[in-house]
Amino acid sequence: MKRLLVLAVAVTALFANAQTFPGSKPITFVVPFAAGGPTDRVARDLAEAMRKSMGGGANFVVENVNGAGGTIGANKVAKALPDGHTLLLHHIGMAAAPGLYRKLPYKPLEDFEFLGMINEVPMTIIGKPQLPANNYRDFENYIRANSGKLNIAHAGLGSASHLCGLMWQSAINAKEAMTTIPFGGTAPAMNALVGGQVDMMCDQTTNTTGQIEAGRVKAFAVTTAKPLSGNKLLKDYPTLQEMGLKGFELTIWHGLYAPKGTPPAALAQINAALKLALKDPDFIRKQEGLGAVVVADKRVEPAAHKAFVAAEIAKIKPVIEAAGKFAD
Ligand code: ASP
Repeated sequence: MKRLLVLAVAVTALFANAQTFPGSKPITFVVPFAAGGPTDRVARDLAEAMRKSMGGGANFVVENVNGAGGTIGANKVAKALPDGHTLLLHHIGMAAAPGLYRKLPYKPLEDFEFLGMINEVPMTIIGKPQLPANNYRDFENYIRANSGKLNIAHAGLGSASHLCGLMWQSAINAKEAMTTIPFGGTAPAMNALVGGQVDMMCDQTTNTTGQIEAGRVKAFAVTTAKPLSGNKLLKDYPTLQEMGLKGFELTIWHGLYAPKGTPPAALAQINAALKLALKDPDFIRKQEGLGAVVVADKRVEPAAHKAFVAAEIAKIKPVIEAAGKFAD
């Protein structure tokens, strides 16, 4: 606590010394997915924590620029004025898009300044409440018995739900069993699932936990290598590996980015405020309640964040190629 206080004083001093940044202009987090979804949730919680960590001296705005699996919002920030006031809060899609899109209008490793990672989030395989299956085994059997008649929602090509759906359908040999239905984010997809207009989805726990708890959707499995034994709700669901899908593991991560050319002084201030926010007990508690783990290792530093994303691009590309789907 004492350390936190010292850090807070240091960051406040940093801001007090910087006359020009952030100034009175708000800092916008561009979220490349729909409002009310899993990434939006992380952004709004982080905006609140960073407002606090900047000693209340900065205003944050969340702008949802959804579409094309997060690539429209990412492109907007890549081309934005590099003054520190427009930031991208994006997830694993930053690393999945290069493997999925033949013509990506931005270069993830060249067009951004890396500001640090935020959290890691498990995913859940969920279905509409009307499904007859009540456990993962029965769910897989139901899919096989209804092959060709089912659909799976996702948040657009290159989104986490798309990636997860691809990997899962390929792992259970059910690529032809269902039609994919893209949405601008898993917030609208979740509405369709709760309403029974789509059959299933693989989505981040920052979006699914509340819906599972309220009984509005059925959960069947989690995508982590190990069971989520620390979470009071999610601990009850098996991992896909426990259900026989050897080696299946998918964890989503979020990071913060600025357009290339943002002044180093602004980047340093944002990174300092981010690191402080990641230690905020309120932020940690909220994220943990949603099954997410706040990053507390060297990936909160820009260089390690960038190296991690580069490694993820190399890791994900062959997975997507094996699953066999491309977007133009
Ligand atoms: N994170 C996305 C959203 O916020 C969902 C996804 O990537 O699947 O909607």
